[in-house]
Amino acid sequence: MKTLKFAVLPGDYIGPEVMSVALDVLKAATEPAGIKLDYTEAHVGGAGIDNEGKALPDSTIKVCEEADAILFGSIGGPKWENLPPAEQPERAALLPIRKHFNLFANLRPGLLYQELTDASPLKAERIPEGIDMVCVRELTGGIYFGPKRTETLEDGDIQATDEMVYKKSEIERILDVAIASAKARSGKICSVDKANVLTTSVLWRKTATEYVAKHAPEIELSHMYVDNAAMQMARDPNQFDVIVTENMFGDIISDEMGIVCGSLGMLSSASLGTGKNKYDLPFGLYEPSGGTAPDIAGKGIANPCAQILSAALMLRYSFGENEIAEKIEKAVKQAVMDGFRTGDISFGKPSIGTKEMAAAIIERL
Ligand code: NAD
Repeated sequence: MKTLKFAVLPGDYIGPEVMSVALDVLKAATEPAGIKLDYTEAHVGGAGIDNEGKALPDSTIKVCEEADAILFGSIGGPKWENLPPAEQPERAALLPIRKHFNLFANLRPGLLYQELTDASPLKAERIPEGIDMVCVRELTGGIYFGPKRTETLEDGDIQATDEMVYKKSEIERILDVAIASAKARSGKICSVDKANVLTTSVLWRKTATEYVAKHAPEIELSHMYVDNAAMQMARDPNQFDVIVTENMFGDIISDEMGIVCGSLGMLSSASLGTGKNKYDLPFGLYEPSGGTAPDIAGKGIANPCAQILSAALMLRYSFGENEIAEKIEKAVKQAVMDGFRTGDISFGKPSIGTKEMAAAIIERL
């Protein structure tokens, strides 16, 4: 019997609510295939601070190190907002966990079902078939991780500097992820940069052109400046299939993609590391794109789909269980098509709660 060993880090507010039902769905999807789940829960974020005095406790890192993947909820919220910035859940747990496991590639599917085009702020005629794309964002380099300093100049003025740094090898390894993603889709990649202004982008564009031509000549590669990409995303998102871009541009473009795709409650993500697990597949962290939604926490009404779809990504990328991942994705889509909606995607029509949504998905597996 195959056993999937993973760490479960539910986090705060709606995190535990959606995690609990995502595990029910995972169990229902894997059991018929004779697959056993072996997961260990650990505290992270506010739950880490409250229970173990730290947003990313050492015991949690150990649980993750012993696993083949991490299923993550979301962290943070008003309860911890008055802590010093460096101790706040997101800063003290999210960036360190990415760094610790070298999670350099963030994949965010931008998926809007045709039945949910109302959820998008775009006019329905611009997205008649919904949206289906992927944003591949470099996650451990660039300006967020480059040297930073604040200094007082000779004339008394104060100057702050963040350096944007990229190595060719860092660009090549994220291109590999984008190429694999494009091969499983339409074979098209749009590389987003600012090569008319930034030196790192000049290297990015040159590397992308040469690397794709050498290693995946069948891929159709195009380039776009990030300011244009931001406009095009709002004008016609379906012109993109796979976007690959550096850390800060990806942060912004993937959030824009998230909003044109409607509710955060539907959007999953995968952050893949350089390390391989015992299946010789990437060790990864899988989490919803949204936050802890404190405004609806504790009411049993959060949309569990993003967490469930993140679990499906974990099956695909870290455990090689593509068929079961697809089965879950189809069941989520079918439940939505059959009219089962949580409040965030119901648009005034009757809505159901977190558990009922998960039950509808399990029924369709
Ligand atoms: P948020 O994503 O939590 O919520 C924004 C809006 O989307 C809210 O109206 C919320 O109700 C709704 N929403 C989000 N997920 C939903 C779901 N599954 N079902 C239904 N509705 C959903 O963003 P925020 O309010 O800006 O942040 C709240 C907290 O979450 C903050 O502390 C923030 O720092 C944290 N956060 C954490 C992560 C993470 O853990 N990766 C990411 C973003 C924000």
